[in-house]
Amino acid sequence: AGAALVVRRRMVTSAARWAPVMQIVEEFKKQCAMSATRLNQLANDMAIKMEAGLESDGGSELKMLLSYVDNLPTGDEKGLFYALDLGGTNFRIIRVQLGGQGKRVVKQEFVEVAIPPKLMVGTVDDLFDFIAAELEDFVNSEGEGFHFPDDDYRPREIGFTFSFPVKQSSIASGVLVKWTKGFNITNMVGEDVVAELSRAMAKRDVNMRVAALVNDTIGTVAGARYHDKDVVAGVILGTGTNAAYIERIQAIPKWRGTPPKSGETVINMEWGNFQSSHFTITEYDLALDLESLNPGEQIFEKLIAGMYLGEILRRVLLKLAERAALFGDVVPPKLNEPFILKTPAMSAMHHDTSWNLRVVGRKLKEILGIQNTSLKVRKLIVKLCDIIAYRGARLAAAGILGILKKLGRNTLPKDDIKQRTVIAVDGGLFEHYTKFSKCLNSTLAEILSKEVAATIVIDHANDGSGIGAALLAASHSQYLEHRES
Ligand code: BGC
Ligand code: MG
Repeated sequence: AGAALVVRRRMVTSAARWAPVMQIVEEFKKQCAMSATRLNQLANDMAIKMEAGLESDGGSELKMLLSYVDNLPTGDEKGLFYALDLGGTNFRIIRVQLGGQGKRVVKQEFVEVAIPPKLMVGTVDDLFDFIAAELEDFVNSEGEGFHFPDDDYRPREIGFTFSFPVKQSSIASGVLVKWTKGFNITNMVGEDVVAELSRAMAKRDVNMRVAALVNDTIGTVAGARYHDKDVVAGVILGTGTNAAYIERIQAIPKWRGTPPKSGETVINMEWGNFQSSHFTITEYDLALDLESLNPGEQIFEKLIAGMYLGEILRRVLLKLAERAALFGDVVPPKLNEPFILKTPAMSAMHHDTSWNLRVVGRKLKEILGIQNTSLKVRKLIVKLCDIIAYRGARLAAAGILGILKKLGRNTLPKDDIKQRTVIAVDGGLFEHYTKFSKCLNSTLAEILSKEVAATIVIDHANDGSGIGAALLAASHSQYLEHRES
């Protein structure tokens, strides 16, 4: 009788401990749930704000930035081109030899360098000197299979993918509007990005010329269009998030000057800055935003992108530890450290298929110093991953629906014309976080009619932005023979 009593008492205690945990989790789950109706309202809101942003600068929190891309690559581009891709956690330099007349990419090489975190919050000179040095090394290693005209006074042309909001004044110039994603370099907002890079290259005698300055979303559209004429938009789901799409000049009241021959251009939406009364901001989102480098900015991005998902999870776990003793009587000290729990680790836990959630246990120990977690606790963490990742993926799907609505592609054409709409998506979150991308796809199927969903293709554009920038450098080259064959 004595033993039975002890067992009973322990169970009661543990159930009593678990109740406040579940209360917090259920509350969070309820707040994050986004019904199809809600997503649809959000998409309408997005489409309306797209229009307002096209109307005038400052017309909406969606900046709808003009790219000045008026020649999307056709396949006829020819010659040797470079691209430089800066904006996430890594920075990359690429060279491609384009064959022209449908021969396309003959040869391609790249280097990838992790950006020292110090440089993301340092000075302009330090960042660009670092880039120019890497560029110099890479150009000097140019070897077999790459051909450049012998008149050596001619600079090599680069497409510069700079994945931050830039207000362009031409295809190859523009000023930084603001930093996002953990970058915060003083004295650069309002400065010409190409001038900064050119100055750093000149210091090192790097003989290169920026032929195109592009956002990564624009590069993604260009790179994907090169292979598929039905591409209408590009979406990045990586450290940050954003989208660009092809728009008719006629639909852009704020357009000034002569329209391009094609009658179209590509618009960088900067959708990361979208805000809507249709999304719910939880206490964790609020605190994350307040304590971020850019409070009040990039709210959509903070709900969706790779930089933030793991951090949201950390904040929920911290609350559970503090208010409901999820990890025992002592709050694990490392849980207090912002950004210690990165989205790749969250993804690894979320995809753990072992019966005892071994990976979850290991990550908690390695990253947060939390030992010996029960299966019950591990399962709860997977549940939190579901809530956070699926909210982000559903919001991203609603964003895509917003673009489709703006383009009138959320319904079938009246005539019998077969319509195919391709959205090129790139970024580490989409590429590596399988549950996230699966949820994005299934949500689109849920919020579109079956007939329309059958015409929409979500295409993983692997490294579209890098190659895309090189292609845009070619299609906007100063030397005409590169463009026409
Ligand atoms: C930037 C965008 C960029 C996106 C994806 C955002 O933080 O504002 O310009 O396209 O991240 O890299
Ligand atoms: Mg990138």
